[in-house]
Amino acid sequence: MVIIVWAILLVLITPLLRAIILRHKVNGESVPLSTPYKVTDLKRGVENLAKAVSFATVSYQEWEKTDLEVFRGFREFLKESYPLTFSKLTVLDAGELNILLYWEGENTTLLPALLMAHQDVVDAQDAKDWTYPPFASTVEQGYVWGRGSFDAKAQLIAIMESLEMLLAAHKRPQRSYYIAFGCDEEIRGSNGAQKIAQFFVAQNIRFAFVLDEGGVVADAFISALKEPVAVVGVAEKSNTNIVMTLAKEGGHSSNPQNPSAVALLSRAIWRLEKRKFKGELTQPIRELLTILGLNAPFLLSIPLLNLWLFKPLVAAIFSKNPATDALLRSTCAVTMVKGSSAANVIANKSEAVANVRLLPNRNQEVALKMVKRRVKNRAINYQLVQHAPPSRISSTESAEFSLIKEIINRVFPEALVSPYLMAGGTDAIWFEALCDNVFRFTPALMDSGELKRMHGKNERFSLANLERAISFYATLITQGSHH
Ligand SMILES: [Zn+2]
Repeated sequence: MVIIVWAILLVLITPLLRAIILRHKVNGESVPLSTPYKVTDLKRGVENLAKAVSFATVSYQEWEKTDLEVFRGFREFLKESYPLTFSKLTVLDAGELNILLYWEGENTTLLPALLMAHQDVVDAQDAKDWTYPPFASTVEQGYVWGRGSFDAKAQLIAIMESLEMLLAAHKRPQRSYYIAFGCDEEIRGSNGAQKIAQFFVAQNIRFAFVLDEGGVVADAFISALKEPVAVVGVAEKSNTNIVMTLAKEGGHSSNPQNPSAVALLSRAIWRLEKRKFKGELTQPIRELLTILGLNAPFLLSIPLLNLWLFKPLVAAIFSKNPATDALLRSTCAVTMVKGSSAANVIANKSEAVANVRLLPNRNQEVALKMVKRRVKNRAINYQLVQHAPPSRISSTESAEFSLIKEIINRVFPEALVSPYLMAGGTDAIWFEALCDNVFRFTPALMDSGELKRMHGKNERFSLANLERAISFYATLITQGSHH
């Protein structure tokens, strides 16, 4: 009996003590930070971002629909707007619509780094519902408005502005930098980032780090926390499409032989979707929870800093919201279901696409196995169509992660910095084979309302964020240089 009482006391007291000790340790350290690089001409940056938006560089699922002339015009606009960058840096060729630049650093024995963004945007549906036209050059209320103003032309223009500014001031980076802007990120195509990655593979070039678009400095990340959290994607969920086909003789709907192919496939789809895949706390999410725990109000920090005991509780809270639930598990959504094309025709076959988003370190065969196990129907034929490689988790123990963290701390001193798992895909996944430190981060302070405009209507990017984004890249590029 006494032992039981002691055991209960121990389980109650240990988490409390653990939280107190861990939080105490952290409060001791504080490193003085130097100021970030100062932006000299924000006005030019704002004008150029507004102009960049006016090029409707929309990528369509059917590549033939993509207007190549618009992409060519966009490239010309960049050349004219950034004459120093296009003359002093080496312009490389990795596919006609891609932009690839190289800036040789002071010390060529260091591995180069790669900064990325993408030129293409998603289409702007219901343009008439927008406050300002989606493809105009609107600057109003302290924002640049329009499709792509945030995703990802803000990043693209911030990189270009920082390069032009540094070149005008006769600066030179310590390590060499590659700059890559792919042309088809939004359709996960093969003409953009994949081609650029192939270029580097052929040249046998590896990188110290790769920095692409990704997590933002998230304001009100959790309501209990006063600091914004800069979330740096150190892995992403990779994307696999599986076409499921079920054939059964159809015919005229006046004499059906039910169940039809559509009904049989529908039952399979229901089995596939009705239960979630098993959850798992991956390393980036564990680290995120620890950082939140170290800074949240004390009561909240007890479960966050004691996952050994409270993991089921924390997971249950995450699972309530689809956005956070997706961080815990691989997911599957069935899309593009097909039957016959006439009201009185029973289809001879029915088809559906299972879009599977895998946690890191899982390949397409795993996805196929997971789907088959759920569906349990031997009559279905499965075909893997499009897939990204499995994503690997970049370590947060590296000097390169510390560098990115330090630059964020300098430009966003109010924010906490944490690793993160990206639920969506980025171009960066194609570079994991070329680099151990692949990061996905967009240097902009935003709340969730602002983030929803991305791919939605009234997308915009604030002038204050543009200034910090330019400063972020300039600070990063000049880090450690002597010029
Ligand atoms: Zn994007």
